[in-house]
Parts: sequence; C-alpha cells; structure tokens
Amino acid sequence: MKKIEHIGIAVKNLEQSELLFSRLFNILPYKKEKVESEGVITSFFEIGENKIELLSATDENSPIAKFLSKNKEGIHHIAFEVKDIHKEIERLKSEGFELINEIPKKGADNKLVCFLHPRSTNGVLVEICQEISK
Ligand code: ZN
Repeated sequence: MKKIEHIGIAVKNLEQSELLFSRLFNILPYKKEKVESEGVITSFFEIGENKIELLSATDENSPIAKFLSKNKEGIHHIAFEVKDIHKEIERLKSEGFELINEIPKKGADNKLVCFLHPRSTNGVLVEICQEISK
C-alpha cells in the first residue's frame, strides 16, 4: 500500500457538514459526486497529500444510512492507495482478509475501490483504491 489516500466521514446532512469542514480546513470542497450504485453523495476536501471524503446517504438502503442507524456521525473508513488493486486483492485474500467485494467497483473521485470487512480488520472499515488511468 502506498499511502492513506483519504479518510471517509459519515454525515447526516451533507450541506451542513460541508460548511463545518470548510470552516475547519479553511478551504472549500473540490468535488461533490453522487455514487448511484452505493446510494451516497460524497464531498471531497484536499489537505496536502490527503483527502477527507464526506459521505451522506441518498436513501435508506444506503450503506451510510445503515451505518448511521447503528453509529453516530464520524469516521466511517480509511482508504489506502494501491498501485495494482487486482494484485492487492489477491494478496489480501491469501493473507486471510475478508473482502466485501472481490471485484473492484467504480467508486467516487475516479477510483476503482474494494472494501475489507471490518470483521477481519479489528473493526476498521478499510478501503483500497487505485486511480483509474485516463
Ligand atoms: Zn472512500
């Protein structure tokens, strides 16, 4: 894994949280994107080398809605950038990690993404991501 690419934060009200984090970081989000397949709207802030991804649910079946029904708002996942997501998936599987999706999905911010089940990672939802080359 190369580095922490971003940290995902689950929020109830995206507009309010965008304002809050804009005040905190003293910058505006650079991108807002709906990921239809995941039922989320995301908003991204860039802080130096890293990013913060705010996530809000678009409907009650969204993983974020489910998360917020069990947890308070807060850190939802940590995403690590990898060079070759397919190789990394094979490696993690051989190490015994449980993957939520074994086939990389198109995520927000022009990335292929794969999530590891928190059951196998000490309760931390881990995302691995690879930039889709243009
Ligand atoms: Zn993410």
